[in-house]
Amino acid sequence: MCSIIAYKGYRDAAPLMVKALSRMEYRGYDSVGIATAHNSALIVKKGVGNVSYVNARLNLDSMQGNAGIGHTRWATHGAVNDNNAHPHVSCNGRIAVVHNGLVENHDELRFMLSKEGHVFKSETDSEVIAHLLESLPTTMDDMRHGYDSMDKAITDMLSMLNGSYSFVALTSNGMLLGARYHEPLIIGLGNPSRSKGGGDDDNNNDNNGDDDDDDYMLLVDECFIASDVLAFIEYTDKAIFLADGEVFVVRGITEACKPRLSIEIYNSRDGKAIVKEVTQIAWEFADVDKGRFAHYTLKEIHEQGHAISRAFFNADSKRLHLLVDALIDADRITITGSGSSYHAALMAKYLFSKICMLRCDAIVASEFTYNIDTYVGNGSPILFAVSQSGETADVLNAVRIARDNNFKKIASIVNSPLSTLARESDIFLSINAGPEVGVAATKSFTAQIALLYRISMEVARSKGINPPTLDIESSSINVEKMLEREAVISDLAESIKNANSIYIIAKGMHHVIALECALKLKELAYIHAEGIHAGELKHGPLALIDEKSIVIALNPMDDTYSDVITSVHEAKARGAYIIGVSDSKSSSSIYDFTLTIPRVDRLLYPLYEVIPLQLLAYHMALKRDCNPDYPRNIAKSVTVK
Ligand code: GLU
Repeated sequence: MCSIIAYKGYRDAAPLMVKALSRMEYRGYDSVGIATAHNSALIVKKGVGNVSYVNARLNLDSMQGNAGIGHTRWATHGAVNDNNAHPHVSCNGRIAVVHNGLVENHDELRFMLSKEGHVFKSETDSEVIAHLLESLPTTMDDMRHGYDSMDKAITDMLSMLNGSYSFVALTSNGMLLGARYHEPLIIGLGNPSRSKGGGDDDNNNDNNGDDDDDDYMLLVDECFIASDVLAFIEYTDKAIFLADGEVFVVRGITEACKPRLSIEIYNSRDGKAIVKEVTQIAWEFADVDKGRFAHYTLKEIHEQGHAISRAFFNADSKRLHLLVDALIDADRITITGSGSSYHAALMAKYLFSKICMLRCDAIVASEFTYNIDTYVGNGSPILFAVSQSGETADVLNAVRIARDNNFKKIASIVNSPLSTLARESDIFLSINAGPEVGVAATKSFTAQIALLYRISMEVARSKGINPPTLDIESSSINVEKMLEREAVISDLAESIKNANSIYIIAKGMHHVIALECALKLKELAYIHAEGIHAGELKHGPLALIDEKSIVIALNPMDDTYSDVITSVHEAKARGAYIIGVSDSKSSSSIYDFTLTIPRVDRLLYPLYEVIPLQLLAYHMALKRDCNPDYPRNIAKSVTVK
């Protein structure tokens, strides 16, 4: 979803922010904007388009100033146009704001502020924040600092905002102030140390804090505030993860005093200062180059052999055992996720029942609230959330609903151990897949499935059930072998690129992969695709099948094999072009094209079936002139409900 970057320090803010916004492009957006503070005035430039386009048009990176805020917008309120792009500026032109999320009561606030004489320049909900800050009784620049509590005016103002937000405001004098509520915001610290408070503002002589014993004020040489650590990891690996309801202020302190910036963090509910832990970020987050690949998506598809092994073998054993115990103790298990992570949740349902005889329900995260009564159990329910980013708003919302309904435990699997979901869970496990930049999930999906195999096997052991032997060691070789067929898959993509609809039929656990394949084709190649239970074909969808239809049949040699063949014949009799995904040689005559998968343990088939289908979706995207890394209208990290 949208991204925020802010910088204050000794470097030129604009080029650094342009680069950071480009690094966060994977999150999804429709317009871009930057504000810098220079010579006690704000400079603002913004427009519709991607970062390189807007930068080329407006020369964003040549804007002057050592303090700035930048934003990529994913519109929720107001059309996608230059005017609605962030930053938004207060009437007096002294405060610029970038915001991620949505202010639900913006109509009411707009009405109130308009009555007070504020003039709005955009249709966005976000602009109210700039005007609210302007209407504070003490101006932001003059706000006292170095005390153990935040100005009441700010805490009152924040209590007026309903909805979700991360925002950063920049004053014409280069001060940064912001807050987080249900949207991520991380502060990167350049050369940090602690102070007992005090110091001078850039423009404020209201010096104090002498009596304060708390080491709550951080001093730094430079600071970065961003939605994702990728924005600043090349400059620092030290960061503070703001929690919901926390406010921060960054200002310059006296020239004589080095380091030169102070960062204060407060709780917005009571205004009290907070001493936040500084987190060391793993440098592996910086590994986000495309390498030899044309797209991140392709690179990530190719990384799956290793991702599968890492997820399976590198699971933290202590956390794994805590999770296993929690699953065994629960009287009801609900597993949830959104998009591909929901498909992983569905797969968990099959794996848990087949490998370790655990019953669980899988539900799309955005539906959890409507079915909560079903899931509360008899006193010890557990919610098990699956998310790549750990920032998906629907998943976080499900977690909060579960907490409100006294779920005994919240467990999760994430790719980002520093994410909000990881922090809000009682137990989390990481899939260890490394950064996934392509918007469509590929390696994170297979890594989630691999970790779910591991969890199921550990539960089985704990319950005294003999787990199956799953040959995960061979995953790299198996994945490699399938990837060798890429050129053939590309030719297949060329021959079916004009399809209007693709139907993917499968039975049992393979249906999950049919759903995932349909999602990939929609996301990457903008083709309507449907995953169908093979047995359901004759109950309706067969009416759509004719000689223009493409049907993909997931047909490995297991107990689903002959039933799927029956459905394949039904489709073939209506003239459909059939693509079989199978390890069976004998059925290849039925298919018009065969995507061969390796002969593996039957429980492992789904892991391999998905790989040629991801490649097919990727190549279909290229043939249809779609950018596979940044599909239109969707975002990687969906941080709004
Ligand atoms: N709700 C705001 C808007 O529509 C911010 C959206 C975002 O998170 O980018 O402008």
